[in-house]
Amino acid sequence: TSLLRFYSSESAAHESAAPHQELVTRFADLPQLGVHERIVNAITKGMKYENMTDVQTMTVNSALAGKDVVAQAKTGTGKTLAFLVPIVQRIIAQDPELADRRRGKARADDIRAIIISPTRELAEQIGVEAQKLCQGTGVVVQTAVGGTQKHAMLRRTRFEGCHLMVGTPGRIHDLLSDPTTGIDAPRLGALVLDEADRMLDVGFKAELEQILKYLPSREDVPRQTLLYSATLPKNVVGLARQFIDPRNFEFVQTIKSD
Ligand code: ADP
Ligand code: MG
Repeated sequence: TSLLRFYSSESAAHESAAPHQELVTRFADLPQLGVHERIVNAITKGMKYENMTDVQTMTVNSALAGKDVVAQAKTGTGKTLAFLVPIVQRIIAQDPELADRRRGKARADDIRAIIISPTRELAEQIGVEAQKLCQGTGVVVQTAVGGTQKHAMLRRTRFEGCHLMVGTPGRIHDLLSDPTTGIDAPRLGALVLDEADRMLDVGFKAELEQILKYLPSREDVPRQTLLYSATLPKNVVGLARQFIDPRNFEFVQTIKSD
C-alpha cells in the first residue's frame, strides 16, 4: 500500500493510508464512471492490466469527475494510462460517434487533446500506447516530435486528421504557430503536461507558454489540464499556476510506496 496526500481546491489537505475506499481501482469497473467499453477492453483484454496504479486511480477518478489534476509521480508509476484514459474518454464524450467507428476520420484543424512530453522517445512511447487504446474507435492519434520527419508527419496529419496530438514542446509549438501547416485546435478540450520538471530543465518554458497562446481560452472552451512532475520545485509550481484551473483542481502526491 502507499500513502497518498491530497489537496483539493474544494477542501483542506488531508492524508490517507487508504485513499481508495470510494474510488474505482480496477480497469474493469471504469464503466461505472462512464468510461466507454472499447477503452476498457483495450486495457483489460489488449494490455491485460487489471488493477490501476495509485497515480492511475487518482488521476482517472479525479479527471473523470471533471477536475484538473496536478500529480507528483515518479517514472514507472503508470502515468501514460493515467492520463490517456480520461483524455480519450473526453474526446469520445464530446463526439460519441467516434466510439462506434472502426476507422478514424478527423480534420487537422480540429484537435481535441494535446499531450506534451519532454523527449522524442517519451512522446513516441505515449503515441504507441495511445494508438493501442484508441484501436477500434475512430479517435485519430498523431505524434509530433522534432527531427527529420516533419513533412511526413504533416502529410499524414493533413490526410488522416488528428484528434489527439502527442509531441515535444518545440515541435508542437512549431506546428501550432505556423499557419501554413493547417494544424489547429480551436475546440481543444484537454491538455496534458507530462514530466513537467524535465520539460523545464531542458529549457522548454518559453515554448510551453507560447503554446498556451495558440489554444482557445478556458472562458471560450472548457479545458481540462493534467500536469505530472516527479519533483515540485518553484518553477513547476509556477507552470501549474499558468495552466491549471485554480477553482477546480486536485493535487495528488505519493508520499511513500513499497
Ligand atoms: P511512467 O510514465 O510513469 O514512467 P508508464 O506509463 O510508462 O510509466 O508505465 C510503466 C510501465 O508499467 C509500462 O511498461 C506499462 O505498460 C506498465 N503499466 C502501466 N500501468 C499498469 C498497470 N495498471 N498494471 C500493470 N502494468 C502497468
Ligand atoms: Mg511516462
